[in-house]
Amino acid sequence: MTPSPPTNLVTLDFANMASLVARLGWPSYRTRQILQWIYQHRIRDIAGMSNLSRKDRETLGHEAVVERLASSTLLQSVDGTRKFLFPLKDGLAVESVLIPDGERLTQCVSTQVGCTLDCGFCVTGQMGLKRNLKAHEIVDQILTVQDRLHRITSLVFMGMGEPLANFDELSEALTRLTDTDWGVGFPKRRITISTAGFSQRLHDVARLGVNLAVSLNASTAEQRDRLMPMMNRLHPLPDLLAACRAYPIPANRHLTFEYVLLSGENDSAEDAVRLSRLLRGIRCKINLIPFNEFPNSPFRRPADPVIATFQSILRQKGYDVFIRQNRGRDVWGACGQLGTLPARTAPAPLSTGT
Ligand code: SAH
Repeated sequence: MTPSPPTNLVTLDFANMASLVARLGWPSYRTRQILQWIYQHRIRDIAGMSNLSRKDRETLGHEAVVERLASSTLLQSVDGTRKFLFPLKDGLAVESVLIPDGERLTQCVSTQVGCTLDCGFCVTGQMGLKRNLKAHEIVDQILTVQDRLHRITSLVFMGMGEPLANFDELSEALTRLTDTDWGVGFPKRRITISTAGFSQRLHDVARLGVNLAVSLNASTAEQRDRLMPMMNRLHPLPDLLAACRAYPIPANRHLTFEYVLLSGENDSAEDAVRLSRLLRGIRCKINLIPFNEFPNSPFRRPADPVIATFQSILRQKGYDVFIRQNRGRDVWGACGQLGTLPARTAPAPLSTGT
């Protein structure tokens, strides 16, 4: 009989860890002790769990391991942005980006390898969905960055993939990241989930207690159909806006709408006016994201004055509007640049490390 492979403790949720502890005949407080070692002390070896007796560590070591993701490759941009490439066990890879901005340090996290959606302006969409990430593969992106002694101040689920298309694993990852007793203890109000528009899932996000960003990207249904065909077919613009209006925004918070600006497609003054009408009455801010180009991309970034005009029209209508800086473009780390294109010219990293 072949022995069963060891249990990887990072794959267990709280309930499964509690069952393991019960099966070993240990007191239930062991569950949180072990979880604290993994998520708060980030140990990679059961031998390091020093509040377990040597005998208990040996017992656990006979059937379990702590196996984190293999070491990541780092690409460092001239603007301070860092892109991490994580090799996964099945040979695929996933990317995460760390963006410093003054006192703030934002990590952009991925939830899928590739994406089911086909938004024409996004590299990840061009590669198709390879697979959903498991909760531990999502959490590991953050643990690895913390291992390198970075003090992350915000987490945005805006990396590869559509977070709400992998909701169960996302939700479990958030439990581990936000639990203050045994988890990483990251504050929920500093976490944002960005969706291309899964309207029926918005109330589930509200229950998670984190912030929501919606990638609107168009000012008419026809435009959205052209730019995000699959998404708009699944959840047409009117449904999405209705779900946003019904969204229970907590006091002192707001929804965020993202709008990728594509030259000659959705960047006219009329678009800005239409957008202001669509969002009327929703407590929100608007993030304009000038298009980040990629090889053979069918779109262009608008000229700066066009971007500025778009912003000022929305401001005159009373909205808080920000232009997202295009950070990390030289390492293919900016919005919409994560993933692999068949025809892509590999970037020459300015400096690499492991
Ligand atoms: N699937 C989720 C999260 C990933 S995309 C979503 O759609 O929200 C994160 C943001 O980057 C989205 O607002 C998206 O519209 C934007 N984006 C995608 N490709 C881009 C590109 N090439 N240039 C600029 N922004 C882009």
